[in-house]
Amino acid sequence: MDGTESQHSPLVVLGGGPGGYPAAFMAADAGHEVTLVDDGAVPGGTCLRHGCIPSKALLHVAKVIGEASEASAAGVVFGKPNIDLDRLRAWKDEVIASLGGGVGQLAGARSVRLVVARGRLVDDHTLELSTATGQSSRLGFDRLILATGSRPVWPPPLVVDSPLVMDSAAALELPDVPERMLVVGGGYIGLEMGTVYAALGSRVTVVEMAAALLPGVDGDLVRPLSRRLAERFESIRLRTSVESLSVENGRVTAVMVDDEQGRETESFDRVLVAVGRRPNSEGLGLDAAGVEVGPVGEVVVDADGRTTCEHILAVGDVCGGAMLAHRATRDARRVVATLNGTGSGGPTAADMLVPAVAFTDPEVAWCGLTETDARATGRQILVSRVPWAASGRAQASRCPDGLTKLVLDPESGEVLGAGLVGAGAGELIAEAVLAISQGLTAEELAAAIHPHPTLSETISEAAEHAAGRAVHILPRRRRER
Ligand code: FAD
Repeated sequence: MDGTESQHSPLVVLGGGPGGYPAAFMAADAGHEVTLVDDGAVPGGTCLRHGCIPSKALLHVAKVIGEASEASAAGVVFGKPNIDLDRLRAWKDEVIASLGGGVGQLAGARSVRLVVARGRLVDDHTLELSTATGQSSRLGFDRLILATGSRPVWPPPLVVDSPLVMDSAAALELPDVPERMLVVGGGYIGLEMGTVYAALGSRVTVVEMAAALLPGVDGDLVRPLSRRLAERFESIRLRTSVESLSVENGRVTAVMVDDEQGRETESFDRVLVAVGRRPNSEGLGLDAAGVEVGPVGEVVVDADGRTTCEHILAVGDVCGGAMLAHRATRDARRVVATLNGTGSGGPTAADMLVPAVAFTDPEVAWCGLTETDARATGRQILVSRVPWAASGRAQASRCPDGLTKLVLDPESGEVLGAGLVGAGAGELIAEAVLAISQGLTAEELAAAIHPHPTLSETISEAAEHAAGRAVHILPRRRRER
């Protein structure tokens, strides 16, 4: 829909991702007249079009393939899967279209005007809009919420003008199943996409500069994932960086530098570059509106989500920090509270308890204080770990290599952090988020009866274990720095 005929809107939201469209909807629910401008034909942002949703659709298929193959250990043998790539792509696109259609309907029902155009500030009260067909117009506003998200970081030596070298959005389009694929970056996006392509049949190599996959995440949570990926991927190269990429005769040559083995050259059929994301603040005309940007391009906001231009607010990835959809949506709640003058909509991005999940196989999830951070700052903690080998459900579901851990205050027993690795960790972490956000102690967590046999019992067992009275683990109370 092109609604640029109206030249003024009291409130404009620029960017229709999980930061922008919830902000628009919440503001409309509070009585604001809202225009939502996004340059994508389908609303929903990166998350819906090129991120969370398509990646999880493909990971679902990867999981089905993996489980079917592993069922042979339990005496059920399936044949080799026959993958219809066109149908798989179409199904993924149907998921996106269905959800995008839902966002559009909800916008209509709330009288939020959708404008498909690219926006750029020309001053602090005016956006210049340009459409894909070359039309341009101006849209005035009283207040603006910036929600333009983020884009992939692309180190200059890895910039190659060839479809064989992809970012995550291109990889999610599933152009083909390359025989050999290089994934540059062992963060969650690289590992999720590597998992998908490996399940579809590619021989995947992951190259990561750091000493471990998922850099920054506690080692005991990453190890079970690393073991599993070592079986599924052709190669995982740590402490290695890709110095350059070049394309010749339909193949990509990568020069890799390993801390120990020096320089090596290998060729691949496709390469995915997934080395991080940066805020989408360039080309927005922020200077013209006096909106300050920080060192990595993040829009600087105060505790109320206001930028340095008082009537322009910002949410989500464009503000930097934890670039995750649920954080963007929480930001939206805060800025709408600011607009409504109903006070703080909650803690700032920096203070928020933002759970993170790598939807790999097994999944890794964590929230709150990590053991790594506690050790780095010298904070006294008590760590209670429950290996999933002690869980009946994990054994019955053939996922005994998981781990649940709680990071506790050693004096009060308050739950400060939690981490899980294993099937469904991304769902299970929600209980820990609730416990931490409500200031619960391990005793209080343990007091809640958890259903048997479920993986959630590992959380109550970890809470019991902290008090030295877990049933399936020998009592052992460790005080750790
Ligand atoms: P975005 O979702 O990026 O939305 C910004 C929108 O603004 C986009 O539609 C963009 O096209 C539009 N836009 C930008 N500039 C302009 C302009 N000038 N004019 C008009 N429109 C503009 N997060 C999770 O929480 N869980 C996950 O599982 C997860 N998986 C991911 C997988 C991948 C492959 C990727 C890339 C990301 C994933 N993320 C995940 C991150 C998540 O997608 C982002 O954190 C989230 O989308 C940020 O929301 P946002 O509203 O800030 O911005």
